[in-house]
Amino acid sequence: MHEFAFKNNELYCERMKVGDIAKRVPTPFYLYSYKTLIDHYRKIKAAFRPVNPLICFSVKSSSNIAVLRAMVKNGAGLDIVSGGELYRARLAGVNPKRVVYAGVGKRCDEITEAIKFGIFFFNVESEEELQEIQRVAKSLGKKVNVAIRINPDVIPKTHSYIATGKGETKFGLDFETVHKIFNSSWRYPNLNLNGLHVHVGSQILDAAPFQAAIHKILDFIKKYHIAVEYFNIGGGLGIMYSIEHPQTARSFAEKILPMLKRSKLKIILEPGRFISGNSGVLITRVLYNKLTPRKKFVIVDGAMNDLIRPSLYEAYHKIVPVAVDGNSSETSEKVDIVGPICESGDFLGKDRLLPHMESGALLAVMGAGAYGFTMSSNYNSRRRGAEVMVIGNKFYVVRKKETYRDLVRGESIPRILK
Ligand SMILES: *Cc1c(COP(=O)(O)O)cnc(C)c1O
Repeated sequence: MHEFAFKNNELYCERMKVGDIAKRVPTPFYLYSYKTLIDHYRKIKAAFRPVNPLICFSVKSSSNIAVLRAMVKNGAGLDIVSGGELYRARLAGVNPKRVVYAGVGKRCDEITEAIKFGIFFFNVESEEELQEIQRVAKSLGKKVNVAIRINPDVIPKTHSYIATGKGETKFGLDFETVHKIFNSSWRYPNLNLNGLHVHVGSQILDAAPFQAAIHKILDFIKKYHIAVEYFNIGGGLGIMYSIEHPQTARSFAEKILPMLKRSKLKIILEPGRFISGNSGVLITRVLYNKLTPRKKFVIVDGAMNDLIRPSLYEAYHKIVPVAVDGNSSETSEKVDIVGPICESGDFLGKDRLLPHMESGALLAVMGAGAYGFTMSSNYNSRRRGAEVMVIGNKFYVVRKKETYRDLVRGESIPRILK
C-alpha cells in the first residue's frame, strides 16, 4: 500500500494534489510520501517484533538527507556502503551505534572516518579488508565490531545484476574461508569478530532463498561452534511493480522467525526497497507525441539519467497520467514512453496503454522511490531534478533541481588552452 491515489480523477500524494506541486516545481522531479516510508518501516518492524531486530535502512536505495532523517527520527538505523553515505548518515543525525557498513571496497579513509564516528558494525567481505580494518583500528587505538559477510551460494530469482548471494559474485566469503578467519581471530586483536552477515540479493519475491541462506549459516555456526552474538540477514525484500506477488513482511517474517528465534542471536535487518520503493514516484511532463510507421512514442522530459532501472534492469514501472479525463479509455493507445537522451535504451516504459496525452500533460512513473534518484546521473549534461517530500497536506523541496552551474562545478580549462 502507498499514499499515491486518485481522487476525482486526479493523483494525490497524501493530501497534496500532485498537479499543484508540478505548478511550483519544474519537471522531472521525484516525489516522496513521508507516510508511505514510515508505514513500511513500521510494517517490517511489527513483522519481526518477536526478535526485536535492529532495522538499518539501506541508504543506497534512497539517500536524500530528509528521507534518512525521517527514518532516523522514527527509530531506524542506517546501512551504508561508502564514505559519502556515512557523511549523509551523519547529517541525518543517526546514532553511530545504529550504523552498519557493507561493501567490498572500503578505502582506508572511509574506514578511518567510520571508526572515528563509532559505527556499530563493519560488514567485512575479504581477508585483506579485515587486515586493513585491523591496521586502522590499531593506529586509532580502538576496538571495532566486525561481521563477516558470507556468500551462501544460493540463487535467488531476480535480475542477475542484483543477485548477490550466488557463489560467483564478488560479495562475501565462502564458508571455508570464514571458518579459517574465526580460527585465526588472534590475528585481529583490535577486531571483535562478533557477527555474521548475509545479503542474498534485491527484489526477491519469496522467502525460499532467505530460508536457504539462513539455514546454511545457522548450520555452519553450530557445526563449528562459531561464537557470534549478531546475525545480520541483510535486505532484499521485493515489492510489487506490476504483476509480482511479493509476500507481505508478515508472511516473510513468519517463514524465517522460527529459525531466528531458535538461534538466540541478535538480529539486524537492512531493508531498502521494501521501505522506499513505493514511497516515491517520478513526475514527468509530455513534450511531444510522435507517430512512426512502426510505433507511437510519447516523448517526455524525464529520461534514463533520471531513472535508469528500465534501461539497466529492464525493470517495469507502472506509468499513469496525473490527471485522467472522463472518456480517456476511448482514446487509449499503445505507446513507448521515452526520454530526450540520445540512446535507444532511453525509455521509461514500452508498449503501454495510455490515453492520448497532449504536450504539457503530466505522467507519474510509479514505484520509483528506491534506486531512482540515487542512481541518477548527469548524462547528456542533463540537470538532475528536484526531490520533493510530502508530509500530510504540505510539500517540501528537499533537493533543488540542479543548475547549469552545478553541472560544471569543479571543472576548469587548463591555462594552456585559453
Ligand atoms: C543493497 C543492499 C541492501 C538493501 O537491498 P534492498 O533490496 O533495497 O532491500 C541491504 N544490504 C546490503 C548489503 C546491500 O548491498
